[in-house]
Amino acid sequence: MLRLYTHPSCLQHDTGPGHPESPARLAAVLHALDHDRFAALDRIEAPRATREQLLRVHRAGHVERILDAAPSDGLLQLDEDTLMSPCSAEAALRAAGAMVAAVDAVIGGECRHAFCAVRPPGHHATPDHAMGFCLFNNVAVAAAHALAAHGLKRVAIADFDVHHGNGTQAIFEREPRVLFASSHESPLYPNTGREDERGVGNIVNGCLSAGDGSWAFRELWDGLLLPRLHAFKPQLVLVSAGFDAHRDDPLAGLQLGSEDYAWITAKLVELARVHAGGRLVSTLEGGYAPTALAASAAAHVEELME
Ligand SMILES: [Zn+2]
Repeated sequence: MLRLYTHPSCLQHDTGPGHPESPARLAAVLHALDHDRFAALDRIEAPRATREQLLRVHRAGHVERILDAAPSDGLLQLDEDTLMSPCSAEAALRAAGAMVAAVDAVIGGECRHAFCAVRPPGHHATPDHAMGFCLFNNVAVAAAHALAAHGLKRVAIADFDVHHGNGTQAIFEREPRVLFASSHESPLYPNTGREDERGVGNIVNGCLSAGDGSWAFRELWDGLLLPRLHAFKPQLVLVSAGFDAHRDDPLAGLQLGSEDYAWITAKLVELARVHAGGRLVSTLEGGYAPTALAASAAAHVEELME
């Protein structure tokens, strides 16, 4: 049984006209998941993350800033491309809270896999900064929750968003209980994620070049990232599922198709089955061509339902 966590506020987080991280993205994903073949999904309304859960990975000043900053109307610009509207703090709390609830559910045996169809995304948010469309680092909040509340000793985060998850890396680069494995295009925003950035041996960065497609992506995961993930023997697999390496995506230059997302998802499901009793929780990160995003997320969810 696959659980799907989402919340209406995630559709109300407004980033202004013409912004690529738009409500239309999530609407397209949810519309695709309304199809009959997803009728068996167990749909759950995401709760809010608590301050305690957020403070495991973010400084108090950052949490207060996000919770207090939401404007009563209009938009507030936090950096070049990260904005908040009146509903943004609520959406950010639900996006992080979805991941926490999903971790509780897979560890509690209520389901094996969960997918959080949420926004704002999270993997660029650092301990004390919102950036790159991200307010709270949803996947990091989930990993820290698995360590602190459930006492897990080894949590893996696999990130196949086309951008490097600099925030996730910054949060865990000195935490050997978390292995962070990322494929991303380089050079590209946020210009981190070199292969020699290794943390305490727990960071594995794999770089791809603009124009690379299916073959290079699969070789990188098969040759480097998946072997490191298997060697780590994770007790829980978390996934930063960004779909912006798709060939139709306007923000990057990789050439993946939805079949590549089915492929990597099957590999990560297998990783979880071998080491983690099947436990896998995935969260939506990027993906900025709504049609390609919806098809890719549907391929991802279909594999998670297997
Ligand atoms: Zn991205």
